[in-house]
Amino acid sequence: MESTFDILILGGGFAGLSCAAALAEAGAKVLLAEKKSHLGGRAFSFRDPGSEDVLDNGQHLFLGCYRETRRFLDRVGAAERLTLLPKVRMAYASVTGRKDVLSCPGFLPAPWHLKIGLLGFSGLSLSDKLGLSRLDVYMRRHLSDAEAPAELDRMTVRQWLSSLGQSARAQTVLWDPIALGALNDDPTVAGAAGFFQVLREAFYRDAASARPALASVGLSELYALPAARFIESRGGRIMTLAKISGLIEQNGRICGAATEDGQTLSAGAVVSTLPPWDLARLKLPEGLSDGWKKFAASPIVGINLWLDRPVLGGELFAGMIGTDIEWAFNKSLIFKEDAKSRGHYLSLVISGARKHLKRPPAELEAIAARDLSACFPEFRKAKILRSRVVKEPLATLSPVPGTETARPAPGLAHPGLYLAGDWTRTGLPATIESAVVSGHRSAAQIVKGEPQ
Ligand SMILES: Cc1cc2nc3c(=O)[nH]c(=O)nc-3n(C[C@H](O)[C@H](O)[C@H](O)COP(=O)(O)OP(=O)(O)OC[C@H]3O[C@@H](n4cnc5c(N)ncnc54)[C@H](O)[C@@H]3O)c2cc1C
Repeated sequence: MESTFDILILGGGFAGLSCAAALAEAGAKVLLAEKKSHLGGRAFSFRDPGSEDVLDNGQHLFLGCYRETRRFLDRVGAAERLTLLPKVRMAYASVTGRKDVLSCPGFLPAPWHLKIGLLGFSGLSLSDKLGLSRLDVYMRRHLSDAEAPAELDRMTVRQWLSSLGQSARAQTVLWDPIALGALNDDPTVAGAAGFFQVLREAFYRDAASARPALASVGLSELYALPAARFIESRGGRIMTLAKISGLIEQNGRICGAATEDGQTLSAGAVVSTLPPWDLARLKLPEGLSDGWKKFAASPIVGINLWLDRPVLGGELFAGMIGTDIEWAFNKSLIFKEDAKSRGHYLSLVISGARKHLKRPPAELEAIAARDLSACFPEFRKAKILRSRVVKEPLATLSPVPGTETARPAPGLAHPGLYLAGDWTRTGLPATIESAVVSGHRSAAQIVKGEPQ
């Protein structure tokens, strides 16, 4: 089969779908090729075999600063499926049984909402809090820089925070959970550039930026299915089970791609949203910079538990300190489900989960039970009704020092070839928002007809 389209988009995750939707809206005839049988890439949902539950491949947290993501959801008519919480409220439960809450008043401008929130944060002593000011001074000095300071791409989060006098307790109870959650790697491994970007975008832009946002439906229903309907209703085409095996180049210009099953997909230009480990498998045009080929992935392990009673004390989610599990999400509350008939559904997250990948589900369930018992006494009375472990070995880019410099800019990379995906250099860590920013940026370049 041979088809000709204006633009061929490789990959059907956040980057590919947001790019395709923006182009379809602008009147381009788009073809999107996805190797799997379903759309969504690293953020999708599925029906749990044996139960009626819709599970995500892992819990995803959005933030108020995910502006391009919300623009994308708005475009495809799905904005109301994401709920932006009214203010920043982070409840933390420690393995010692201690409970702390960081609550930032929503009516104050940034960064005063954070400063007032931190003043009232019982997890830190007065001297820990005084020590935070050095980090604040550094952040404010570099807020208007176009990129994270180059020196931060040469050190880890731990090295950077320690160099700015952040106490061990401030790191353990405040910064580490944020860094681990946002960068998906241990602060002793993750580069400081990404953490600078997280702090800048979440806490220094405006008070709404750090407000958490949660999907009230499964991830596929949140964006993948609405985006597919939007693209197809504008004459675009989506091919699943279409694994790209190579790019097609003519006269030095990329003009299509070949699928593993022998199809030729021709187009005026190609946007790749493949993650680096998939893109590196294709034969790439000569001259394309490839410092990113050595990028590695960091895994996430998710543990879904259904209990006979609520255990998070009415919190939508809570950070856990001193445990293997870092975050517990109250899915029954988030999905507004009838917990009485279906059980109280918790989604537990272990980021940077290398040492847990090979553990069997029963062992991970036992770790979850141990950690929940230590942090939430109510759990000791609870019965686990059901559990389901989901492992994502290639969850996100492992942002080790040096990564920021090697990330290629999103957009035109070679005549006829655009690069997008969360891992491109968007000024954000490799997250959903980065994926959508890269998709929108590539689409905008194509629509504007920037030199190819
Ligand atoms: C468990 C988990 C939890 C996460 N939590 C968060 C969170 O809380 N907040 C957040 O912001 N981010 C989170 N992330 C990261 C977020 O999911 C990703 O940043 C985002 O989904 C990446 O989108 P993308 O479109 O760039 O890449 P992908 O979603 O990987 O899309 C690329 C697509 O290309 C396809 N593909 C690959 N090779 C080929 C080929 N040869 N031919 C055709 N198609 C191909 C893939 O199948 C995939 O569908 C999490 C990720 C995981 C796995």
